[in-house]
Amino acid sequence: MKGREASNEIQEKPLILVSNDDGIEAPGLLSLAAAMDDVGEVVVVAPVTEQSAVGHSITLREPVRARTWPFRIPSGVIRAYAVSGTPVDCIKLGIDKLLPRSPSLVVSGINQGPNTAVNIIYSGTISAATEAAILGIPAISFSFCRWTGGDFEASARVARSISLRVLERGLPSGILLNVNIPDLPFEKLRGYTITRQAKSKWEESFSERKDPFDRPYYWLSGTFVNQDSGENTDLYAVDNGYVSITPVQHDLTAHQYIDDLQSWTWEDETSEPEKL
Ligand code: MN
Repeated sequence: MKGREASNEIQEKPLILVSNDDGIEAPGLLSLAAAMDDVGEVVVVAPVTEQSAVGHSITLREPVRARTWPFRIPSGVIRAYAVSGTPVDCIKLGIDKLLPRSPSLVVSGINQGPNTAVNIIYSGTISAATEAAILGIPAISFSFCRWTGGDFEASARVARSISLRVLERGLPSGILLNVNIPDLPFEKLRGYTITRQAKSKWEESFSERKDPFDRPYYWLSGTFVNQDSGENTDLYAVDNGYVSITPVQHDLTAHQYIDDLQSWTWEDETSEPEKL
């Protein structure tokens, strides 16, 4: 852990901000907050309603409200706020206004359902952690690879263990860890593996239906397609019983394409005659 200036506060516990996109009442959030309880001082700042798949959106055209929330974990009640906005709003507001000081770690989840492959771009869970990484705070997102129900216990143990490691080692500014945990008992997990995002896509279509006024409305549905046979991918890892840890960054620049793009001719055609 980073050294601190000498102060009256001896061995201050690390402050940990816990958030999610499934909302303040989600069982995965409760499991994550409880798992962090002996790691540091926990403050929960989470959306009041489910915000899955809102990505990195923020609230700009209406006020964001936060109210204290009676958040009970087995060892007692912890400080918690329910926020009217998105996961990213929660991180920004938590750090700027609600927390007593800057957190040492931000953890997001534990999401109900995997956040692997292309789904990372849509995930509010990951965006909460991404926002923390942008602000220079070590951050981790956790997702449980099961869409409904299930037991978060193994995921919570994994989350605690990885969080301790990150508090010890730190992370480079701008880089977060995206962790996916298979739906297995803790003893059945085959270990941790460092992965990359699998290449994938959704084959989607909108179902068209009619409302009671006979106006059409649309509902998105689709089938997930894995386009990647790599054994170092997040999908391969969780399908084979490993905890997948993918380092993720918000820099969306396609660095590998910069040289190619520089070789294009960019001068406007109208300027050609001047060359002679
Ligand atoms: Mn979610």
